[in-house]
Amino acid sequence: MISKKMEQLGKKSSVIREIFEYGKRRKAEIGAENVFDFSLGNPSIPAPPEFGAALLELIEKSDPTALHGYTSAAGDLSVRARIAENINSRFSAGASAEQIYMTCGAAASLTISLSALINEGDEVILLAPFFPEYRVFCEKAGAVVRVVSCREPDFLPRAEDLSAAINEKTKAIIINSPNNPTGVIIPKEKMAEIAALLSKKGEEFGTDIYIIADEPYRELSYGMEVPYIPNLYDNTVVCYSFSKSLSLPGERIGYIFVSPRAKDSADLFAAVCGAGRALGFVCAPSLMQYAVGKCIGLTSDIELYRQNRDLLFGALMDIGYSAVYPDGAFYLFLRAPGGDAPAFCEKAKKYELLLVPGDSFGGEGYVRISYCVSREQIERSLPAFKELYKDCMGEK
Ligand code: PLP
Repeated sequence: MISKKMEQLGKKSSVIREIFEYGKRRKAEIGAENVFDFSLGNPSIPAPPEFGAALLELIEKSDPTALHGYTSAAGDLSVRARIAENINSRFSAGASAEQIYMTCGAAASLTISLSALINEGDEVILLAPFFPEYRVFCEKAGAVVRVVSCREPDFLPRAEDLSAAINEKTKAIIINSPNNPTGVIIPKEKMAEIAALLSKKGEEFGTDIYIIADEPYRELSYGMEVPYIPNLYDNTVVCYSFSKSLSLPGERIGYIFVSPRAKDSADLFAAVCGAGRALGFVCAPSLMQYAVGKCIGLTSDIELYRQNRDLLFGALMDIGYSAVYPDGAFYLFLRAPGGDAPAFCEKAKKYELLLVPGDSFGGEGYVRISYCVSREQIERSLPAFKELYKDCMGEK
């Protein structure tokens, strides 16, 4: 018999994907320009020109068998060394190539890290609202998920809630800052508070608790510092991706950094290599490794997302909506007028606005708006947002 669990996962697509697919059908019916699709986190800004130039140079000047051949299982050593140099120069992370494992994006970084850490029945804490795939990844790794809700006014975790969720089975907490779906960045003082709490609880229970820092949005901050978690907490594994910072989500490239300050760091890195092997995630795509290796330190033109954020946030607040101010990523988490997010999103479709209910993120009562779209789409969508608001307020 096939795996029922996997069959179910395959048949039930995510809410985000369902809305995206609906959008494709609707665009075919009424024209793409008439649908305001804010559903997916697909970067709308091209990769920097250096990336294309790096690809061309690699293709024109490299020995093709080497270029397209297997790298070491953990990735090409020189690319890993360049990544280590970069995080050392920015964060004094004390990294070396031997602590970097190249992956197929943050999703692979997460599944590998979870497999490396989890023994069946260990608990992983998720801070809601969270990227819905976390639950799938954790459960596949054999972990029991424990959710800690972060609420208004700031969507930051409260120390007392976190403290109550930690027990002797707690193995890890996934921290995603800047956050999908709220856009919130955890400030340094709050991160330090979380770190101190985890250390205290670890001592109390005689256990090692890890932070899995999911950082695909690290570079997408519009002014606020994004604290580097390995500098605040020793037992940290960073899951990084170039999907958003270099606008390469389809290329599937990222890395894991095991902090040298983590307990038994070398063994933990060996477990990462073992998990990568067991999951079939060895030798991340070589051409992409070499190409990003030539673009370390570069980003897409993030300023354009900041302009989108300013335009959309300002206009929606003027209309009367409310949301927590997003300091990073490219999402806005809007309070659904009336409180019923799925009903609000259904109503939004009448105005050709495609928004995602927060329920699947563990954020009931809110909707996620991905503003990684053209400025023009935002400008043209504003009358629709206004009509929708009036409709919700019974003014139509
Ligand atoms: N983590 C978060 C919070 C995300 O939003 C995403 C993608 O949107 C991922 C992980 C997966 O990223 P990648 O495409 O690099 O696998």
